[in-house]
Amino acid sequence: MKNDATIHIGVIGVGHLGNFHLKQFSKISEISLCGLYDINEIRAKEMSELYNIPYFTNLQKLLKKSDAVSIVTPTFSHYEVAEKALNEDCHIFIEKPITDDLYHASKLLKKANNNNKIIQVGHIEQFNPAFIALKKIKNYPRFIESHRLAPFNIRGNDVPVILDLMIHDIDIILSIIKSKIINIRANGVRVTSDTIDIANSRIEFENGCIANLTASRISQKEMRKMRLFEKKSYITLDFMKETLEEYKVCSKKPIDSSNNQIIEIGNEQKKYVLYNKPSIKKHNALKEELKHFVHSIKSSTIPITNGNNAINALRVALKIQSIIDK
Ligand code: NAD
Repeated sequence: MKNDATIHIGVIGVGHLGNFHLKQFSKISEISLCGLYDINEIRAKEMSELYNIPYFTNLQKLLKKSDAVSIVTPTFSHYEVAEKALNEDCHIFIEKPITDDLYHASKLLKKANNNNKIIQVGHIEQFNPAFIALKKIKNYPRFIESHRLAPFNIRGNDVPVILDLMIHDIDIILSIIKSKIINIRANGVRVTSDTIDIANSRIEFENGCIANLTASRISQKEMRKMRLFEKKSYITLDFMKETLEEYKVCSKKPIDSSNNQIIEIGNEQKKYVLYNKPSIKKHNALKEELKHFVHSIKSSTIPITNGNNAINALRVALKIQSIIDK
């Protein structure tokens, strides 16, 4: 749009995830990738050759050519890079967490709002097909249990596991439970790195719901699951397998037109459990997330994973961190 009707997008930070940003952006027809930048010039050149787009050795030059940028650098650099991009009048997509402190996150949001720029944050699970399926089911959880476990990886260790992994579940839970947080308890341990590697947190909401979150990056097995319990219903969501299963207790034998399974429980007073595993239309969550960014720019609408929601998730994450560090 700087010169014509196409949205020119630049990608900043082309490491592990930046590579996938380039891959997915190159499949979106409404935009043009105008270039990339990475402080590691060897990596920049490699990605430039792979995607056949120019690489810049000067960030400012890329920003001047871009209408919007994806910031996929390590968390500690998000603020510095995002501020430069906003100064050059670019819309910004920042990978999660928005920043590692609230002051800088609020400054970015204020600046983006004042300049009429879109700010979207990479809370990708909002675009997970299983979570989209969950949103179609009315649910009022009283208890939520989430597990996000990953094997050790050298990447992401610059921030505690709460900012790296748990923040995904915090963001999801805050979007489900629209109630004030009244208490948080937490514990965590530094096992292999200098920051917290495994953490557990219990969040109590004013409406009575309790969320128990566990995140680890020193696990043998990978797991990304969330279980939601409410009166007469249990839903289990697997973010990795992108599946959703629902169990509903009914006192009368349900008349079920679909092929749902009905389980009989109890002797004297029979109850029935209706088991439903909806078929979920799969899509690439990153592609959907980036398309949403493009759509938000084109329609001047606030993205789902906007700066405000990202700040709310960051506030809770930092509170958990401070409780553990006390
Ligand atoms: P990475 O280390 O693989 O890549 C980071 C790249 O940024 C490197 O190539 C590095 O040279 C470059 N870089 C560092 N500082 C820079 C700067 N100031 N300007 C330009 N380039 C710079 O890391 P990654 O795993 O790709 O993570 C990047 C970001 O993505 C982090 O914020 C991380 O939290 C986030 N992330 C999000 C998800 C998700 O599920 N949404 C998954 C993984 C990572």
